[in-house]
Amino acid sequence: MIELQGLTKRFGANTVLNGIDLAIAPGERIVVIGPSGTGKSTLLRCINFLDRPDAGTIRIGDLTVDAARATKAQILALRRRTAFVFQNYALFANRTARGNITEALFTVRRLPRAEAEGRADAILRDIGLADRGDAYPAALSGGQQQRVGIGRALALSADLMLFDEPTSALDPEWVGEVLDLMRRIAEARQTMLIVTHEMQFAREIADRVLFMEGGRIVEEGPPAQLFESPRDPRTREFLRRVR
Ligand code: ADP
Ligand code: MG
Repeated sequence: MIELQGLTKRFGANTVLNGIDLAIAPGERIVVIGPSGTGKSTLLRCINFLDRPDAGTIRIGDLTVDAARATKAQILALRRRTAFVFQNYALFANRTARGNITEALFTVRRLPRAEAEGRADAILRDIGLADRGDAYPAALSGGQQQRVGIGRALALSADLMLFDEPTSALDPEWVGEVLDLMRRIAEARQTMLIVTHEMQFAREIADRVLFMEGGRIVEEGPPAQLFESPRDPRTREFLRRVR
């Protein structure tokens, strides 16, 4: 079980996360939607301390981290249990596809080289890039780069995978292959927290959809309910605009 309680983040006078409470069951696939500037990325980033929350607690299994007094060791432990997929892939340009995947296994997982390389090759097959392991990011399409980004996260076998608009930077022609890969990960019942504007995808794979605005979860529900009969006027207005 994963649980956030009162997660709060301020940038100066701007309260970007306003006491987020959220419990995530093992294997649950949650999609977060909402207008831009509403704190969706900050929520994901605070969960693994890419941004440091000001208050609240994050619990993943037997690890509980109080944001206000988190130690370095706790933050590292939290990062070991989560994996992040970035909108802009955030690959190392000077490392091959395989190198990008093994890097995290060395630094985060501290796996020996041979084991990391074996794991990376299995992941490269999984993400459909078995023959592109030696390619550098610049030689890969946007879709392939993001599949490496997802493969790198997948390699960590994290308790929770965090996806921040993983298809938003892609040319339309590459969106499908990335969503297909995410669909397979979802089918394997990986616990996922996904920020996306791909409403059809959300409808297919989400167990629960959260609508965020102004640093709060305004409304949540199963996709059929939230998309077909949203209760809050702000959700309705947002859905009307994105459709
Ligand atoms: P979303 O992902 O929903 O578009 P964000 O989480 O990126 O929203 O941002 C929420 C708010 O926090 C915005 O007002 C944004 O300007 C602000 N913000 C995000 N990151 C920073 C930062 N590093 N410094 C200052 N303000 C930030
Ligand atoms: Mg964002």
